[in-house]
Amino acid sequence: MPERIETESRKLLGRLRKALATSSEGQDRLDKVVNIIALSMQTEVCSIYLFRDEDTLELCATEGLKPEAVHQTRMKLGEGLVGRTARTRRVVNTADAPNAKGFRYMPETGEERYSSFCGVPVQRLGDALGVLVVQSKAAREFSPDEIYALEIVAMVLAEMTELGAFVGEGAALSARHTQPVMFKGSIAQEGASEGQVFLHEPRVVVTNPISDDPDVELQRLRDAVDTLRVGLDDLLSDNKNTDSEQKKVFEAYRMFANSRSWLARMEADVENGLSAEAAVEKEQSLFRARLSQSGDAYMRERMSDLDDLSNRLLRILTGQGSDAADMPENPILVARNIGPGELLEYGKALKGIVLEDGSVGSHATIVARAWAIPLVINAKGISREALNGDTILVDGEQGIAHLRPDETVQGAFRDKIAMLTRAQERYTSIRDQPAQTKDGVKLSLQMNAGLIADLPSLEGSGAEGVGLFRTELQFLVRNQMPRRAELSALYSRVLTAAKGQRVAFRTLDIGSDKVLSYMKPNDEPNPAMGWRAIRVGLDKPGVLRMQLQALIRAANGGPLSVMFPFIAQYDEFRAAKAEMDKAMDRERKLGHPLPSDLKVGAMLETPSLGFAPDAFFKEVDFVSVGGNDLKQFFFAADRENERVRKRYDTLNPAFLQFLCNIVDRCNANGTPISFCGEDAGRPVEALVLAAMGFRSLSMRPASIGPVKHLLRRVDLSEVRSVIDASIAAGDQSVRRAVADWLVYQV
Ligand code: PEP
Ligand code: MG
Repeated sequence: MPERIETESRKLLGRLRKALATSSEGQDRLDKVVNIIALSMQTEVCSIYLFRDEDTLELCATEGLKPEAVHQTRMKLGEGLVGRTARTRRVVNTADAPNAKGFRYMPETGEERYSSFCGVPVQRLGDALGVLVVQSKAAREFSPDEIYALEIVAMVLAEMTELGAFVGEGAALSARHTQPVMFKGSIAQEGASEGQVFLHEPRVVVTNPISDDPDVELQRLRDAVDTLRVGLDDLLSDNKNTDSEQKKVFEAYRMFANSRSWLARMEADVENGLSAEAAVEKEQSLFRARLSQSGDAYMRERMSDLDDLSNRLLRILTGQGSDAADMPENPILVARNIGPGELLEYGKALKGIVLEDGSVGSHATIVARAWAIPLVINAKGISREALNGDTILVDGEQGIAHLRPDETVQGAFRDKIAMLTRAQERYTSIRDQPAQTKDGVKLSLQMNAGLIADLPSLEGSGAEGVGLFRTELQFLVRNQMPRRAELSALYSRVLTAAKGQRVAFRTLDIGSDKVLSYMKPNDEPNPAMGWRAIRVGLDKPGVLRMQLQALIRAANGGPLSVMFPFIAQYDEFRAAKAEMDKAMDRERKLGHPLPSDLKVGAMLETPSLGFAPDAFFKEVDFVSVGGNDLKQFFFAADRENERVRKRYDTLNPAFLQFLCNIVDRCNANGTPISFCGEDAGRPVEALVLAAMGFRSLSMRPASIGPVKHLLRRVDLSEVRSVIDASIAAGDQSVRRAVADWLVYQV
């Protein structure tokens, strides 16, 4: 970088800082900025366009274009050269603007007289905020040094826009992060709650993007990078992190942290007038922009490593960070997405969750549902808009989140919470009543569990035991493989809490979206259909054996129920059962008491098992239908992909027919059968499952009340007639027919 430009750029920032300090009014600040840039860069025009809404840019200040055009001229994202700069997030630099691709003539600005155009995106951490433009009459391309200076200024503009420095009367732009915003997402877990935003990845606020003293800033930057490097060295030398994959990640991080070019670019930015934080963010913004455009998986991974490193560096520099200890009083977690392990780390303290992505079928959703934490998914843009501590209302009934709500919305929402509480009280009143329909059909309603924290629900919900204990959740909450003794103690606590009621322990179901940090992740194109669950258990039986031993010991001579996940063919069940037999043998030889009654079941989660030979149904002690997986494979629709998941209703006649066949086969062979997918906990679905012949359903504890309440009010044979009529009429789903019929039952 030539010395002259460094000084020019710093001088320019120095002037900007002075001008901004003498002004407190948003529009005035913007006007001064464009004036100073035009003067310093000797261009006839300098303009700033900022986003008015998600896809409209507005001319907010100009030096050189007609002043009347300010706040009048607007363009859509991608429209004209300004819109193109914003959409591509890349510099557009041309000597012949009127003939450049995408040029749009805007008579109100008088800009056709200008030949050269240079647009620089104003962006912050991948978030496009606007465009900074310089234009001149002379036909020339702007030099790399000039563009660099503009990028530095754009970075400062981005930080100031984020801080709300350009809002105020006349500016016609409202401050960011202050207005009420409603996000319409999708329903993932019902319920309603009010609380404060707790960001999974908090935004670091940079209050001073321009440095006072480059030497001081350079030292701060270098010190922070040193701290970062030492931290990574410690991580690498820590004996606890022995997993070779994890080591590889840390090594890659260390390589980046030691990269001269990364540091050199940031140092140059600081020498050119940015503060250390702003320099880190400038680099990070560039990565993010590239990341969003790169189709190469390897490059994306490397760039996301760099993104993470930049975050660490920013936290070191600002002292701001995400820590569960910083949770506000009624924390509502807001995140782009979250894995089940991370969610388990935050624990049950959360009052609500709002995700930008997420899916109804994911295990993070299942954890939230198990804890009855209202969850809204697909709330696009919320992680950019929300700030830590903002008031937020989560309406899980409608799949809506109200951020910074006004008083009217808040009032109506509190009425809703009161109404839901009253409904809950109604369910509590039938807790000890049987789940018996009007025509005398009795169902067994059990609960799904996986954590010690779930155990109190056994008592509170009225569940008749645990129909599915997801043992992998215990593995997900740790950062190393649990030991046999620990597991055995834990399973024994579960059995004690169940007070003699049945608990169906499912052996480890990892793979797909359940990834253990301490196990080498598999690079598979289709993890949901890949090496997961019992496939891992049979190929690498060490953990399975340890788990089976722990279960036998936990039973301590009492009854024990164990089921294997994801059995796709008879042979897999036989092999898994053989492991169980061996474990029993081993325990017998060691002199440990054996279970008084051992039941070994299989989860039916792939259509293939529904067609298994009779011998399978005769041999297996019980079958539990894992509807979440079964449905995704039946319709070939990823349970985590909202777009395809929603196309196929569980109450589709083809799926119901298939479930009915499974029930028939089990009945014909005398095999007990139950259903433990999420659908069992949805009242209408549960009703239809009962009508199709299921007599045992396992669901999240909070669903037991609503499901029982509905079952007790209906005549099951009438439900079946309604379903049969709907199927005969060729309906794509029996939902409408059942729902219409239900209206007259209450
Ligand atoms: C299922 O697939 O329905 C099931 C209960 O298992 P999981 O959701 O844990 O995959
Ligand atoms: Mg499953």
